[in-house]
Amino acid sequence: MGRFLIIIILFIATLFGCQPSDDNLQNTGQSSIRAEDFEKHIQTLASDEFEGRKPFTPGEEKTINYLKDEFSRMGLAPGNGDSYFQEVPLVDIHAVPEEKMQIEGKGKSLEFSFREDFVALTLRVTDQVVLKNSELVFCGYGIVAPEYGWNDYEGLDMQGKTAVVLINDPGFGTDDSTFFKGNAMTYYGRWTYKYEEAARQGAEGILIIHDTAPAGYPWGVVQSSWTGHKLYLQTEDNNMSRCAMEGWLTMEAAGQMLSAAGLESNVLESARKPGFKAIPLGLALSLQMHVSHEFSTSQNVIARVSGATRPDESIIYTAHWDHIGIGPSVEGDSIYNGALDNATGIAALLEIADAFAQLEEKPARSAVFLAVTAEEQGLLGSAYYAEHPIYPLEKTVANLNMDGLGFWGKMKDLTIVGYGQSELDDYAKEAAERQGRYILPDQQAEKGHFFRSDHFSFAKVGVPALYASGEHEQAEKGIDWITEQRDRWLQQHYHQPSDEFEADTWDFSGMVQDAQLLFDIGYRLSQEQTYPHWKEGSEFKPIREAYMPGQ
Ligand SMILES: [Zn+2]
Repeated sequence: MGRFLIIIILFIATLFGCQPSDDNLQNTGQSSIRAEDFEKHIQTLASDEFEGRKPFTPGEEKTINYLKDEFSRMGLAPGNGDSYFQEVPLVDIHAVPEEKMQIEGKGKSLEFSFREDFVALTLRVTDQVVLKNSELVFCGYGIVAPEYGWNDYEGLDMQGKTAVVLINDPGFGTDDSTFFKGNAMTYYGRWTYKYEEAARQGAEGILIIHDTAPAGYPWGVVQSSWTGHKLYLQTEDNNMSRCAMEGWLTMEAAGQMLSAAGLESNVLESARKPGFKAIPLGLALSLQMHVSHEFSTSQNVIARVSGATRPDESIIYTAHWDHIGIGPSVEGDSIYNGALDNATGIAALLEIADAFAQLEEKPARSAVFLAVTAEEQGLLGSAYYAEHPIYPLEKTVANLNMDGLGFWGKMKDLTIVGYGQSELDDYAKEAAERQGRYILPDQQAEKGHFFRSDHFSFAKVGVPALYASGEHEQAEKGIDWITEQRDRWLQQHYHQPSDEFEADTWDFSGMVQDAQLLFDIGYRLSQEQTYPHWKEGSEFKPIREAYMPGQ
């Protein structure tokens, strides 16, 4: 009876209540984010029926239709005109180099073997690539960074030449956080940047010298990732503005090359010193590649909750829907289900979308939900969106990305990957504190995780982006326990058929907590007039300022 009375009182209070406060609105939204919904989405998306959700397979059809149906059931509007889809034109390129790369000059002749000593490919949509006596230049880290007063290509004409560069950036392995970012990797340290910069310099080819510590992975990973079929975005110039050859060289092969050039291997160390000047090696490289290609189209899925007063301003949530499909069988299982990676992120995307859709009073700005394709192939779906934005970048307030949420229960921390980049850190801190959590910078910043999921595609076009989740301290079991769980998962299940959903062992409370926190941040942003800024020293700040002066 008492309980019944309370319900009646609450009901009357609701009827006669004043304008609900922001916090009430948020509670309405947050309470719709529930463990049972997470379970339903993940169980479906990570089922064998979805075949590991690889682009261009029946698994893509099932996944994108599931997303469309869920968005429309929740009452979200299509995000691309009257469509829930954005077509992403891709090209599958298979470049096969000759078995031997020839290096000649200074009376010496070297032969490097494909896979053993080097890997090489091309993004150019063409039938054949021929490098004939392309002059080799050791260009240090291959970095042009005006904000650090650094230019490894100073005074060079790279036309027809091949740059040989080091991985990571000069700050790697130092404690000096003012020298680049010390041990934390800047974008200048990523291989993607090295290739982009070499192309801007007009180089014909580029070879990155592999080194396990600064790369963050052994040569075997380079071998398997850089051979075979690869997917890329279709571009208007058929990628002819990229270098003809992009590749890697082992440290041993690089050593042989330097000694043939009459140099000591300590020239590699000299590249760290400010004022380093590139060194022409007096050697030339020759290599041919046979190239085949096939065009196809995949889909991003996009939906929207329109803002009530400033619908043209958007907060964009992202998660990648794709995984790696069917592959080599491991213990009799060949379906790479991608339960954690990234059915969890997609489930969170759907739950946050539902929370916005259920708000009694719509937010001032729009909330956009973008499930992107081909992340596993190199962030392609998000890169395509960023280059073909449906919502103008200068009206895009922020990107909040979800990739791989943990199933180990509630966390005391919120680990921010790329901590220190933007004011979104401050929003994250406040939201974390409202949940009784603390924030923590990425504990492995030297690995460059900030550049390895879809938020980075937004950062690259200047939109402040946040990538954060709880991973360091489990609420009851502490730091050591969760560290051991996560390490074991990475070793045994990351990108393996065994990344599967286990109804008996998965605890959804941490995902619910993270999704509620990201809803909270997006909701705050959606009610504000201002735009969050990149912090001073961020490599993305000048990009934003170029089209939003004073931001
Ligand atoms: Zn992922």
